[in-house]
Amino acid sequence: MALIVHKYGGTSMGSTDRIKNVARRVAKWHDAGHRIVVVPSAMSGETNRLIALAKEVQAQPDPRELDMIASTGEQVSVGLLSMALQAIGKKAIGYAGWQVAIKTDSAYTKARIQSIDSDKVNRDLDEGKIVIITGFQGVDDEDNITTLGRGGSDTSAVAIAAAMQADECLIFTDVDGVYTTDPRVVSEARRLKAITFEEMLELASLGSKVLQTRSVEFAGNYRVPTRVLSSLTDPMLDLEVEANSGTLISFEEDKNMEQAVISGIAFNRDEAKITVLGVPDRPGVAYHILGPVADANIEVDMIIQNQSVDGKTDFTFTVPRNDFQRALDVLNGSKDALGAASIAGDAKVSKISVVGVGMRSHVGVASKMFRTLSEEGINIMMISTSEIKISVLIDEKYMELAVRALHKAFELEKA
Ligand code: ASP
Ligand code: MG
Repeated sequence: MALIVHKYGGTSMGSTDRIKNVARRVAKWHDAGHRIVVVPSAMSGETNRLIALAKEVQAQPDPRELDMIASTGEQVSVGLLSMALQAIGKKAIGYAGWQVAIKTDSAYTKARIQSIDSDKVNRDLDEGKIVIITGFQGVDDEDNITTLGRGGSDTSAVAIAAAMQADECLIFTDVDGVYTTDPRVVSEARRLKAITFEEMLELASLGSKVLQTRSVEFAGNYRVPTRVLSSLTDPMLDLEVEANSGTLISFEEDKNMEQAVISGIAFNRDEAKITVLGVPDRPGVAYHILGPVADANIEVDMIIQNQSVDGKTDFTFTVPRNDFQRALDVLNGSKDALGAASIAGDAKVSKISVVGVGMRSHVGVASKMFRTLSEEGINIMMISTSEIKISVLIDEKYMELAVRALHKAFELEKA
């Protein structure tokens, strides 16, 4: 008997028929003798609808009241799923975040979980009940309802699994796992049976939007074995088969998995590049260029500063494409104070990253990546690396070609 947390996304909860299917799947796991906690998202489209309603009334919705509204989609899902379970003869009880309680800070619309009291839930489980808890929402110290940011139900589920020391957190979703890259770009992309949470974190933050990034951080920090798997299969699928399906997000030391050097390739189309040309090379340059950009709340990603020539240097960095114009405006404002010759920008760039913990123990990954791109005639504008990742910035028109060539070069289609 194990304690297992199930999370179901909006698509899986998208209609009452689908909710009945979720109930059958949950009941199957409970019948096998497991203790089950379920964390559903709002029905698909519902959170968008609620936020749009708020904006019809107030152009810039008050964050506290917005959370009051946005959190209700999950409450409906919890009630419906409890009823669906009761209708097939199961004992089930639903809770809103505050009833558990899932305590968060007071940062409305992007609150962070601080603690979860699992006593009540454990008592229910002891009584043979299936416990269903709202995703996405929590409560602060003043009893205000908070939400965890879009996609936050993933984080709710992993956090609940961590607090309850669950054996596994199963994230049921509308894809059947994590792939070596986006199958829409590379048709040979292959589902990974397992991936380390560090690799997943790189892939998640690099734009493979399978899980909310914060949920992966939670899984890593609290060592919660987490599995991403499909909810679109037959709910009565053999339990053993289901338990081994999808992609397990695990830890390096117990990675008795396919040990490829590279696990996946991520890409991000939403980059833009800015170059500050001919700035005097003296202490404080980087600070004086990037300080105002940070003050404008613009996230900077890759950074390079060239070798100086005659006491002058060029400084290049990337920002999200949405913030490109704002970043240019900020820099044009500080151009004279910086003593810069000029400022140039390019919003038609993409970032491609190869990710794999195997890089720690293998050399030659970078040279293979650069050779592959050179053979395709693709120019590299910027490079950045971490222990398990190499990223390059290239012209956006070569993005798909580059991803396909790299996928092939690293033989990711082979298990
Ligand atoms: N319902 C929320 C959203 O749409 C949370 C979630 O689905 O994870 O963002
Ligand atoms: Mg989601």
